[in-house]
Amino acid sequence: MSDAQENLTARNVLVYSSSLADIDFGPGHPFKPARARQMMELLPRYSLLDEKNQLVMEPSPLPDEALFAFHEKKYIEILKHAERGEFTMEMLEAGLGTEDCPVFPGLWEYSAGASGGTYQGALMLADGAARAVFNPLGGFHHAGAGHAEGFCYINDLAVAITELVRRGLRVAYIDIDVHFGNGVRDAFAARDDVLCISIHESGMTIYPWAGFVEDIGEGKGEGYTVNIPLLQGSDDEVFCHAFDSIVPPLIEAFRPDITVALIGADTHREDFLGHLNLTSIGYERTVRTIVRISPKLLVAGGGGYNVFKTAALWTLAWAALCDIEPSDAYAGLIGGMMYGPEAQSGSLRDDPYVVSGNLKDRCFEFARDTVAYLKRNVFPLHGIG
Ligand SMILES: [Zn+2]
Repeated sequence: MSDAQENLTARNVLVYSSSLADIDFGPGHPFKPARARQMMELLPRYSLLDEKNQLVMEPSPLPDEALFAFHEKKYIEILKHAERGEFTMEMLEAGLGTEDCPVFPGLWEYSAGASGGTYQGALMLADGAARAVFNPLGGFHHAGAGHAEGFCYINDLAVAITELVRRGLRVAYIDIDVHFGNGVRDAFAARDDVLCISIHESGMTIYPWAGFVEDIGEGKGEGYTVNIPLLQGSDDEVFCHAFDSIVPPLIEAFRPDITVALIGADTHREDFLGHLNLTSIGYERTVRTIVRISPKLLVAGGGGYNVFKTAALWTLAWAALCDIEPSDAYAGLIGGMMYGPEAQSGSLRDDPYVVSGNLKDRCFEFARDTVAYLKRNVFPLHGIG
């Protein structure tokens, strides 16, 4: 391999478009593309865009052939008509025009652009033009082939994975969003070349009310769907115990060519939709583990409804992807004064927060049972003793 190729292979790519980050899902809708803008403001402050092997790239819209390799043509037509203001009953049947999935101007541009970024990232990784790609505007893990749900219209992850497996690549999907990644699970539940792992708050207490540990895939895909539900209230210790017990051994046994990771920040204890108690400590540790066990890595943003916390966690995730340590460009210069969006929240990293007492005992017991179930029922299918 020449030096030039080596440099290319080492490249870490950030997909970003300020015009897409400006698109608004409407007043009161919790999904805020502006999270990505706040992250882009934090990155230079923490000297996280100074490396020679980094590239910031505008996404281009998803090509039709990639879109239709996963999504149903009829659904996409309904979606495009809906955006033009042509409302039909079919639209509601496809999950559009609901409180969660409203139809608004810019919807198509956002969906196609955000998904295009994830798809481009997949191509760059497959072609050896990048080592890691992060698209904070993407990550729509709830969308189905023929319907929208859970703030998700185009399932960029399923589209990207469809292309990767079409090329004969083995893909591990790791979803650490607080919500179960049902759309991706459904897309690949019957396949044995996509290992689909989702760790999330149990469907007993949160949308999409599924993703239980007993669901381990279908047919030849049995053992290739892995759900790690956690009890509401679980903190960093419980989350990391469950994740570390299950995910690294499975990835090591599966030996993916590429990992696709969905790093929703709604597990954070200050998130407005989730009920877990993670801090930046557990989140960052988990992302660093994903980086360590993945040969190549395609990362999408996903959920995260506390805008500043999400921007801060994704900033830490980008640092982890690039294997660099954030260093505050203003530290020591301005005393205790806070600059920019941090004025809202303090600093990039949180203080430790540990749940205790009866709640902690119940969370740990639930996690231990989950881990034991997967070790008993899934590990043997991968030859892990
Ligand atoms: Zn979520």
